[in-house]
Amino acid sequence: MMNIGCHLSVAKGFMAMGRDALAINANTFQFFTRNPRGSKAKDLNRPDIAAFLEFAAENHFTTLLAHAPYTLNPCSADQKTRDFALETMRDDLARMEFLPGNLYNFHPGSHVGQGEDVGIALIIAQLNTLLTQQQTTTVLLETMAGKGSEIGRSFQELRRILDGVVLQEKIGVCLDTCHVHDAGYDIVNDLDGVLSEFEEIIGLDRLRAIHLNDSMNPRGSRKDRHARIGHGHIGLEAISRIINHPRLRHLPFLLETPNELPGYAEEIALLRGAYRE
Ligand code: FE
Ligand code: FE
Ligand code: ZN
Repeated sequence: MMNIGCHLSVAKGFMAMGRDALAINANTFQFFTRNPRGSKAKDLNRPDIAAFLEFAAENHFTTLLAHAPYTLNPCSADQKTRDFALETMRDDLARMEFLPGNLYNFHPGSHVGQGEDVGIALIIAQLNTLLTQQQTTTVLLETMAGKGSEIGRSFQELRRILDGVVLQEKIGVCLDTCHVHDAGYDIVNDLDGVLSEFEEIIGLDRLRAIHLNDSMNPRGSRKDRHARIGHGHIGLEAISRIINHPRLRHLPFLLETPNELPGYAEEIALLRGAYRE
């Protein structure tokens, strides 16, 4: 069975997200750990989480994906900004332990003119401060489109970060189809080639989740504007090859397309229909 879901609003709590996911035939979902602007997180609602965990088990949900606020910059030139990223992620990871064994995705950050060597060193330092042997959450680096000075637009940059992390079993990668396309990887005409490169540089065993998005812009545009499935430059045919690829088909696929719930329901139906059981 295909593991698929979409980004849902955490505002109403976990049971509400679980019910919404089930209603659109999803068996996973993604949520922001807090307001994406990075403000203070609401207190955890323990009964809500307990009810959700039971609901998720009964309905055979698979691994969930939490997303860090995208405004955090762990490799900022400003110490205060870096400290804020670290403390926010530390708090997020502590909360994630109430939903044990799931995934926490973050944007590696922007080096803002310091250069990628400095940026990568700062990200590694943050991760080595943050990760603990005890955590059950796997932290994922997201592949980025390469807007501005974003780190993570190439597999090589992600590899350099991975190489510096001490707790290797706590770190993985989330591949965003819009981002890798916008970064220049030809997942439309040469998916096998891109995946061999991923295997060679990062290792496909590191890949734990896929953000499934079409792109409003042509390959290599470095723009990062998500389109609905089949309504962008990647297209439904290429997306069907991605979800059915023998090296990818077992992964959780999370939609981050411009949709409300009914639009997500349509995309999930379309993709489940395109998935070869
Ligand atoms: Fe993201
Ligand atoms: Fe993404
Ligand atoms: Zn994006």
